[in-house]
Amino acid sequence: MAAIEMKNIVKRYGDGFPAVNDISLDIADGEFMILVGPSGCGKSTLLRMIVGLEDITSGDMVIGGERVNDKAPRERNLAMVFQNYALYPHLTVYENIAFPLRLAKMSDADVSSKVENAAELLELNEHLQRKPSQLSGGQRQRVAMGRAIVREASAFLFDEPLSNLDAKLRGQMRTEISRLQRRLGTTTVYVTHDQTEAMTLGDRVAVLRKGILQQCASPRELYEQP
Ligand code: ADP
Ligand code: ADP
Repeated sequence: MAAIEMKNIVKRYGDGFPAVNDISLDIADGEFMILVGPSGCGKSTLLRMIVGLEDITSGDMVIGGERVNDKAPRERNLAMVFQNYALYPHLTVYENIAFPLRLAKMSDADVSSKVENAAELLELNEHLQRKPSQLSGGQRQRVAMGRAIVREASAFLFDEPLSNLDAKLRGQMRTEISRLQRRLGTTTVYVTHDQTEAMTLGDRVAVLRKGILQQCASPRELYEQP
């Protein structure tokens, strides 16, 4: 069974040309799927419909075998990692990572073991008592990923997570995201307009253009095309 199934998904904002125009795409359990294409092609809109931040005009969104069109984001058990980190500046790294577990009223002992596991994976152990302002851009990005990891969501969704970072850090974070995803084996959908990210990170790359799914293939298949 696919982790995420999209069936004839359409999104219209007003009466213009559809932002997403009849996209059908299955994402396998554990797969790293890239959504790539030029600005305005509908990548963010599609991702936001998976997460539940945007209503679907028509079509079916199925997650874990269940139709979720009418489900709120928190009922979908997905973890979104934003480009701008969305960290709480007044909370420590520890409390930022712990935040979703606090909301779920988990015991202190369980919170502690989950946060420490995530910090270990992300090499943030030394920084748990710092505030976001005392961290580098890459470390902040890792805290945002830590928050996604502790939720044990059924999928990670990334919206251009590296576009605010400089080239060197971007390369480094690309490697880290890849390593982490392989290790956890969590289904991942990753939006980017960066060809290098698309070709190095994805098991498959879905190429969007003007709201249409032009093709979906492995990086190797795309690379070998004439
Ligand atoms: P991408 O992420 O590929 O840059 P988007 O999904 O943001 O593309 O946008 C796809 C199209 O939908 C664009 O033409 C954009 O202007 C339009 N669009 C996106 N969000 C809205 C919105 N909230 N209201 C109206 N039009 C929107
Ligand atoms: P991205 O870089 O991810 O495509 P944008 O900067 O285009 O994002 O859009 C930022 C926000 O504005 C998004 O929430 C998107 O839905 C919204 N948006 C984009 N295009 C339009 C539009 N034409 N009208 C209204 N809102 C829009």
